[in-house]
Amino acid sequence: MAYKYRFGTKVRDQTWALEKLAAYRAGRGELPICVHCDQPVQIDQAWDVSHITVPRTFGGKSVGCGHRKCNQDDNTSVVIPAFSKAERVRKFNCGITGPGLGKHPMQGGRRSLLSKTFSHGVQPRLSSKQRHELFLQRRAIMPIEDAGEVSP
Ligand SMILES: [Zn+2]
Repeated sequence: MAYKYRFGTKVRDQTWALEKLAAYRAGRGELPICVHCDQPVQIDQAWDVSHITVPRTFGGKSVGCGHRKCNQDDNTSVVIPAFSKAERVRKFNCGITGPGLGKHPMQGGRRSLLSKTFSHGVQPRLSSKQRHELFLQRRAIMPIEDAGEVSP
């Protein structure tokens, strides 16, 4: 019969056991200590495996127990803004100033000189002025200059 983990996964079980042992050795009781608020995590409280010094998004490996609410507050107030700032700086240094604005434009994308259409295949991309002039040429039965002068 397969072993059933007490907290759902092996990592959660191991983290709970190690943090419990660390708290016991430190003389702080028999329950793990929350890494955020420094209070014991009760057995009936929701808790998460929380990354301690370096967040997981930056490659952090060291983990501990944290109340779920404390961990979520930490994520929203510290980790997500730090990651967003790091991403902005990375994109700025790579020359990416917007979505799809990297070094090489996508073939047939809006920055490309070619346009791929469903019905007419690959064509040179026209500016909106060129498209409008083409539209007027196709629509007009007579030249545009003459159309304004006709009024009986
Ligand atoms: Zn806490």
